[in-house]
Amino acid sequence: MKVLVLNCGSSSLKYQLIDMNNEEVLCKGLVERIGIEGSILKHEKPGLEGKHIVEEAMNDHKDAIKHVLNAVADAKVGAVKDMKEIDAVGHRIVHGGEKFASSAVLTDEVIKAIEDCSALAPLHNPANLMGVEACQTILPGVVQVGVFDTAFHQTMPEKTFLYGLPHELYTKYGIRRYGFHGTSHMYVTQRAAEMLGKAPEDLKIITCHLGNGASIAAVDHGKCLDTSMGLTPLEGLIMGTRCGDIDPAIIPFIMNKEGLDADGVDKLMNKQSGVYGMTGISSDFRDIEDAAKEGNKLAINALDAYVQRVKKYIGAYAAEMNGVDAIVFTAGLGENGIGMRADICKDMEYLGVSLDAEKNDVRGKDRVISTDDSKVKVLLIPTNEELMIARDTLRLAK
Ligand code: ADP
Repeated sequence: MKVLVLNCGSSSLKYQLIDMNNEEVLCKGLVERIGIEGSILKHEKPGLEGKHIVEEAMNDHKDAIKHVLNAVADAKVGAVKDMKEIDAVGHRIVHGGEKFASSAVLTDEVIKAIEDCSALAPLHNPANLMGVEACQTILPGVVQVGVFDTAFHQTMPEKTFLYGLPHELYTKYGIRRYGFHGTSHMYVTQRAAEMLGKAPEDLKIITCHLGNGASIAAVDHGKCLDTSMGLTPLEGLIMGTRCGDIDPAIIPFIMNKEGLDADGVDKLMNKQSGVYGMTGISSDFRDIEDAAKEGNKLAINALDAYVQRVKKYIGAYAAEMNGVDAIVFTAGLGENGIGMRADICKDMEYLGVSLDAEKNDVRGKDRVISTDDSKVKVLLIPTNEELMIARDTLRLAK
């Protein structure tokens, strides 16, 4: 069975075609600038030298998906002879609100429920649905499945998802903590258990998804108990351009002082903050690390603050779960930031964490990176959200 995985943004889309017999990626790619001048598709296939590039006007997601399918079924650069070989499509859907605690086949009723969640993710859900609609037209009769970023976190109990706000804001608008990156947290949880030779139900795991957006989750016996992102992906850790946790009173204060409206302050917190705002250098941690090495004080402070927040959440989640068996690092920085992982795990003897400097000296590979006698195992696991989406799609399509 072959599953096409689609991750549609407002003007971009990423795709992978996966053969579920052996979970092999047959081809993958990225379309950018959909509906904007300069639309471009970059397609890759194992064994194909370089990338196959298509530069043609793509006015909407339907256009883009047509080009994707042409590439996927192309005699030279494609991976199938006919697009009829695609058995199912798995879509990444960002916000499933309280309606989806697991993946779902995209029936009319389910699509309506996703539309109802759009108020909570106005930039993401409508874009995700454009991809669904396009596939319904181009691949009629092919099963389509939605896999939600929020679903894994739906096991959080009231004590971790309710804010200290008037209760009617929850009942009226659904203002509560939802959490994101759920597909990634779930994937690394399952993989960590596999690597440790145990079932997720027998473990207390803290999963650290440290990418441009970053979040941590406390996974207690296989179920998410808490996670650092909230109503939106702004809460929690300091990120590339997002501020993470701040005193909420800062918001009216800067609105008054800087003469900003709600959109202005939202932009400031989402796009102009994080390590980028703290340093004025970049949102990319490699640039910040380079500047810190040259002695840039703002860069040193930003990295120290980043590490401090991650440590704070790890400590909090160990306390919430009454202990921890494993800590997992994943996503861009978690997979590649050798020094960052070492700094986060430093001075954690109180918890029973002992990182092995030699084992930690690796990028992007599944590996236990703690010492053999470390009470808490530390693991590096490259995330694979696409595979997780494809697995759920296969399960539901069957
Ligand atoms: P997203 O999917 O959220 O855009 P990624 O998971 O791709 O993000 O992570 C991107 C981040 O990973 C970048 O900010 C980058 O700084 C960081 N990163 C990637 N490679 C390295 C590296 N070798 N050393 C340190 N940080 C890295």
